[in-house]
Amino acid sequence: MIEPQDVKFAKCPACGGTEFLSETLGEGVKKRGLMRPELECYYEIKQGVVKDDTRVVNMPIGSSLPGYTVYLDICLACGNLCVRKIEYTKAKLRLQNPIPGIQIPGIPKRPGMN
Ligand SMILES: [Zn+2]
Repeated sequence: MIEPQDVKFAKCPACGGTEFLSETLGEGVKKRGLMRPELECYYEIKQGVVKDDTRVVNMPIGSSLPGYTVYLDICLACGNLCVRKIEYTKAKLRLQNPIPGIQIPGIPKRPGMN
């Protein structure tokens, strides 16, 4: 299988605009010295794993599935919500705590559980 490559999009696909809401606001904050210059700003970041929940239960612990992170921002020229960057990852199947309230060594407690 061919491994997908991370990709960046410099322009809005709808109008070709190159200025984006969060990126532009972030640059202003960086110029004021209130944000590290190496940080990137996006309107929204979505992460996911491509999986079939009915099959995951039969997969061995440590199996990997393809995952992704999609970075979105809003074009200041036309208002289009644009994908600015896609990163591909591998998500490892981990053991999840099956009984709320019981702590398995090495597995962090879920928030709100004792
Ligand atoms: Zn646009």
